[in-house]
Order: sequence, then structure tokens, then C-alpha cells
Amino acid sequence: SVAKEKILQRRSLQLRQQQQDWKESSEGKKMLEFRRSLPAFKEKDAFLKVVSENQVIVISGETGCGKTTQLPQYILESEIEAGRGALCNIICTQPRRISAISVSERVAAEHGEKLGESVGYKVRLEGMRGRDTRLLFCTTGVLLRRLLVDRSLKGVTHVIVDEIHERGMNEDFLLIVLKDLLPRRPDLRLILMSATLNAELFSSYFDGAPTMHIPGFTFPVRAQFLEDILERTGYRLTPYNQIDDYGQEKSWKMQKQAQSFKKRKSQIASAVEDALEVADYKGYSLRTKESMSCWNPDSIGFNLIEHVLCHIVKNERPGAVLVFMTGWDDIHSLKDHLHAHPLLGDQSRVLLLACHGSMSSTEQKLIFENPEGGVRKIVLATNMAETSITINDVVFVVDCGKAKETSYDALNNTPCLLPSWISKAAARQRKGRAGRVQSGECYHLYPKCVYDAFDDYQLPELLRTPLQSLCLQIKSLQLGSISEFLSSALQPPEPLSVQNAVDYLKIIGALDENENLTVLGRKLSMLPVEPKLGKMLILGAIFNCLDPILTVVAGLSVRDPFVVPADKKDLAESAKGHFAAGAYSDHLALVRAYDGWKDAEAQQAGYEYCWRNFLSSQTLRAIDSLRKQFFNLLKDIGLVSNNSETNNKWSNEEHLLRAVICAGLFPGISSVVVVQIVMQNKEKSIALKTMEDGPVLLYASSVNGSVPKIPYPWLVFNEKIKVNTVFLRDSTAISDSMLLLFGGNISKGGLDGHLKMLGGYLEFFMKPELAKTYSTLKRELEELIQK
Ligand code: ADP
Ligand code: MG
Repeated sequence: SVAKEKILQRRSLQLRQQQQDWKESSEGKKMLEFRRSLPAFKEKDAFLKVVSENQVIVISGETGCGKTTQLPQYILESEIEAGRGALCNIICTQPRRISAISVSERVAAEHGEKLGESVGYKVRLEGMRGRDTRLLFCTTGVLLRRLLVDRSLKGVTHVIVDEIHERGMNEDFLLIVLKDLLPRRPDLRLILMSATLNAELFSSYFDGAPTMHIPGFTFPVRAQFLEDILERTGYRLTPYNQIDDYGQEKSWKMQKQAQSFKKRKSQIASAVEDALEVADYKGYSLRTKESMSCWNPDSIGFNLIEHVLCHIVKNERPGAVLVFMTGWDDIHSLKDHLHAHPLLGDQSRVLLLACHGSMSSTEQKLIFENPEGGVRKIVLATNMAETSITINDVVFVVDCGKAKETSYDALNNTPCLLPSWISKAAARQRKGRAGRVQSGECYHLYPKCVYDAFDDYQLPELLRTPLQSLCLQIKSLQLGSISEFLSSALQPPEPLSVQNAVDYLKIIGALDENENLTVLGRKLSMLPVEPKLGKMLILGAIFNCLDPILTVVAGLSVRDPFVVPADKKDLAESAKGHFAAGAYSDHLALVRAYDGWKDAEAQQAGYEYCWRNFLSSQTLRAIDSLRKQFFNLLKDIGLVSNNSETNNKWSNEEHLLRAVICAGLFPGISSVVVVQIVMQNKEKSIALKTMEDGPVLLYASSVNGSVPKIPYPWLVFNEKIKVNTVFLRDSTAISDSMLLLFGGNISKGGLDGHLKMLGGYLEFFMKPELAKTYSTLKRELEELIQK
């Protein structure tokens, strides 16, 4: 090892020489000049001093001041300068893979090297790093995964956790683990970086760690809300009875069914109107946050965005435009939409760019550069442009007001699909992006009153996502007792919700009595979906009925593709009912509708099919793409093969599908009792009750709500909503034996334990005779097992 030390020494000297050469080259000098202009540069010496004297420090600073690109680099450079270049090992985590990649590229360039030499990156399934990589940018998930196999982070000298103000689940999670690790690794340095000024919270979490602020400067930005925009630009917001749903409109035009087109438009309009509770702001309903909840930037918002962009291009001073959208899907369709516009699609006047994960380096360059010849740069981005990346020449910001919140997944970081309103803090941050080089303008595409209803800050992810998945991750990372671990979080969740989550995981068989992961639990922890959906996927794979189960799970994760216009309620319901014929299942109705759509798509008749059957093609497309992702995840963990025939050997067995759905949704069960009611032309009606709520009702949109009789004794349901009474949403009818064999967890405590647990249910629903059926079943099973 003396030899090894010599090699490292030589390598360190080499690195120092390289660094000096680069700084003296003309390109290096230019780069250095830019870096020196950043606010972080003034704090460089103070920063390095605090790092050398403290184990933990918290840094805050205005977005764009140079935290991400400069601070890790200062550490690297000073280590190289001190002749320890080959010994240091710096890890900087990013909440998103996109920023990990783009930041590492930038830092490598600033350091005068190719990516993968001293500076590299690693994200899930992808990376660029070498033996000599000393500064690694990775996603928080990647570092968590490394901790799984390397509990003490051997050889790592500095851990930098970036964007902690976002309070992402992974970051909060990582901080608990690191807090526990620090005493065992006194030489390890931890640097926390945050954009806003909540540094105190983190400092006190780490026993009063020193904080440091990098002062920055931004120019004032004028905020305009929807009412100002309408006033100023003279735009007539389309009254709701003329709303164009972008996707639908195209389909109608394609069909050239002018007559029905008009009718259909007014149907959708009145549905939207109902939902929006028409207010009297200029005759449009834009009163509250709730009433705006179906405002969706990827449908009615497109025309407004287009209008605002036109206004800027035609009338405003030079400067780039940054448009905040909710996700990659809408960025994509908006880009297509704008490309078709005579002015915005004119490449001699407008440079239209989308900021996304798989941007090539040339695309990235375009985003950061100033276009030539008076061309207006318009960048479409997601909320990652709020803090993770900074485009300097932005003068105009267009804010749609929504973002897709990320759901919890400690290892994979998969975003959840539902866009929701952003917080006031996020809206302010978006606005601030317009004032980097001069004063700017921000167009918020929602009324001021909606902004006023925003939350001040987004709740930490740990407190707004279901704890079940988190508990599984804690177990799979072998972090000990769940409740003990979570009680040491920055803002710990309620003990009762932790207990509920643990109980639930025991009932479904993911944890055993002693809170240890079962085989099922281990597989579930590898799937970035709610445990109930994960269980359905796993069973769908095991029982070779994969395709329909993929559809059910994707459907439950996106939203219902069936649309119900207010004045065509009956028609829409009968269209859905038609799919459910004989199935008594919303889930199976979805499977049939999706399959029909796929066939129609193959014959270029997808739009027509949707139109005829009251389906949203946009939602079906989202389901389609999610199905593929789920399939790949199952393949990753080795549960399915590439052979579609094997995977789908039993896909046509609806009884099996019912059973698998039951296995996933249990303990969401309700009994079905038929009662005679001779009233209001109805002879029979269905009464339902659940163990927790007593009598419950079905949602009007459920196919089981409109049938006179359900020839099954039970319904399993996905979700219940309490209004005055409790309503069940999507449900599937199941038989006794499906419940007995698939409800809960047969492996837990053996068959007897299973019966004991189910016994409580059976007794409650006054079906003790089922226990006898069960004993018979049990005996038969045991005989089978013995054979
Ligand atoms: P912070 O992390 O404090 O928000 P960054 O370190 O990300 O700031 O960025 C500092 C500066 O570097 C910003 O002004 C930004 O414009 C510039 N910058 C970052 N990445 C690039 C890039 N890929 N190309 C050109 N400039 C960049
Ligand atoms: Mg940053």
C-alpha cells in the first residue's frame, strides 16, 4: 500500500498541474472570468473555511448565485490545490435526474475537462463517471441506494445535499440517515444547500450547525394576474360555452361532423360550467381555487398561452420568455400547438425550446445562450426551472400555476401524475426568474383570488404522501423500527398515521407480525407505486394475466378516462355501462374500453372511437404510456418475461382478474345486500355496507350504481369519499371464494391466522357460514400442499 500511496500522490500532483494549465489557457481564463462574476465567488474563502472547521454547514442563497455549480467545485479545486486531488471524493445530490446531468456537464466544462473525468454523474440506469471521478452529481435516490450496500459511505469525503428547501421525501429521508451516520464518520463533511431562507430549520436539526448566506441581487418583476392580462392584452377569454378542448377539437374537425361538433362543444361547456360554479368575473367563472380546479393548461389553457406569447413577441421589449408547464406531456403538446402558429412557429422570429431530461448538449447550449438576430427565445419548462436551472436572459415568465407533485419513491424518484396548484412560495420563485438581468414581467395565468387561496408553502412531501410506501423503504434499507426512525425526521409524521400504515402493511402481507419484510414486501418496495397497486401488478404477473392488470393499475394511477357531460349524462353512462355488461366492475369496464381503443388506434380510428364512447383520448394515451413504464419496472425486478403470450396466458379469465383486483384492493370491501324497495319506479335496490362506515353509497359514475342487481355478494373498491354519507368510487364485484382466498394474506400466520383475520370480517357481515366454506377450502388446500 506504500506503492498505492505513491500512485495517489503522483496522480494528485498531475491533477494540480492540469488545473493550473487550464486556468492559464485562454479559454480557461474566459471561463474563470464568468465564474468570478457570480455572487458565490465573493464568499469562496469564507465558505472553504467554514467547511474545513465544521462537520455540517447550511448554505442559502438566491437561485442563480452559483451554489450548485460553484460550491462543489470550490471544494474540488481547493483539494486539488492542496495536493489531495486523488484522495477526495465529493458527492452532490440533486432531486431530479435532469439537473444531475446538466449540472455535471456544466461543471466539467468549467473545470476544463470532458464529462466522466474528474466530474461525473450517476442517475438511475444511466451514468457517466470513471475511476478518477472525484466530484459526482447524482440523484438523491442513487445515494440512498448506495447507502443500502455501503452504510458508512466509505471513502466519501464530502456529501452535498442540494435543493433541500424543496423538502422532497428523498431529501428528508436522506437527512435522517446522514444525521445518524455523522457521529460514526467524524471526518465526513455534510453541506446542505437551499434556495430560500429557511436555513434555521436545518441548522437546528443538526444541533446548531453554522449557516451561511450568499447575498444575491434580482431586479423587480411586475406580477400580472389573469384579470390584468385580459385587460391589458384585450384578449377575450373564451366563454365556457365555446371552450375548445384542444385534443377533442382536432378530432372533431378531422371528422368534419360540424353539426354534432357544435352540440358536443356545448355539452362539455355546460359540464365545465357546472363544475366551475359560474361567478361574475367578466362573466367567467374564476372565483376560487376549487372552481379553477379543472383549469388544465393542456386543454383550455393552450389558447391563452398562445395569446400571451403572441402579445410578448409583437409588443414587448427584447428578452427571453420562460413558460412554466406541469409536465413533459403538456410541454410536448404545447410545442406542437405553437409550432403550427404563423407567428410563433416562424423560426426566423421565434426560437422555441423545450427543457427536458434527455436534452442533447447542443439543445442545452441553445437554452442558455442568447439567440442572434433579434430572434425571441421561448423556453418551455417544468418546475425544475424554478430553482434547479437558471436561464440568465429571461425577462418574461408565463406561469400556468400548476405543477405535478412528486410522489414518494426513495429509490427511483418517479413523478406522480396529477397536476395540482403550486404554493405562493413557488409562484414567487417563478416570478423571480424574470429579473436576472433587468426588470421583468410575470404573467400568472390565473386570477389574483386564486393566487390568494394558494398555500404559503408546499407541505413537506413526507407529510403529504401516504406513509405505506415510505415504511416499506425504511424496512428495505434496514433502518430498524419504523416508528423510531420516522420520529427523528425534520418534521415527523403523526404517530397514529405511522401506526395505521404499519397495520395496513401487515394486513396485506407486506410485513410480518414482527414488522419484518416478507417476500411480497421486498418486491413491493422495489415498485414505485402504492402497495395496493404494486400487489396487483405482482399478482397479475404471477398469474399470467398481465395486460388487463397493467391497464387497471395504470387507470387507477392516472384518472378515469370516461367523460360524463352534464346534459348527456344518460348517454355517457350507458356507453360506460355497455363496456361493463355482465362484468359488474368499473375496472373491467376500463380494461374493455382500453382494449377497444387500442384496436381502433391500430386502424387510425382512435378519435372516433373515443368520441362515440365518451372517452378522453388524452387520458387513454396517458394510461398507455404508464402501462409501458409499469411493464418495464416489472421486467427490471424479474417478474415478467418478454414473451407476451406467456404473460397473458390467463388474461381472458375475468374471474381471475376479479380475484387479482380483490387481492390488491382488500381490505376495501363492502357487502352487497339486495333489498326490496317499491318506490319511485324502482323495485329493487342495492344496499351496501362496510365494516368501518356502516351503510355506504356508490358514486353515480360507477357502473354498479345503475344496475338493478349485482349477482355477487361483495364489492371491492379502490377509494371512498366522505360527503355526508360515504361514497365508494370504482368497484368490482367478487365472490365469496375470491374474498376467502385473495383477501388479505394467506401466508401470514398460516391458514389459521388468515381465517382468524377474515373471521372478524365475516362475523361483522353476518356471514359466519362462510367460515365453514373456508374450513373445507382450507382442508382441501392442505391436502393439496401435502401432495
Ligand atoms: P444556484 O445553484 O445558486 O441556483 P447555479 O450554480 O445553478 O446557481 O448557476 C450559477 C450560474 O451559472 C447561473 O447564472 C447560470 O446561468 C449559470 N449556468 C448554470 N448552468 C449553465 C450552463 N449549462 N450553461 C451556461 N451557464 C450556466
Ligand atoms: Mg442550484
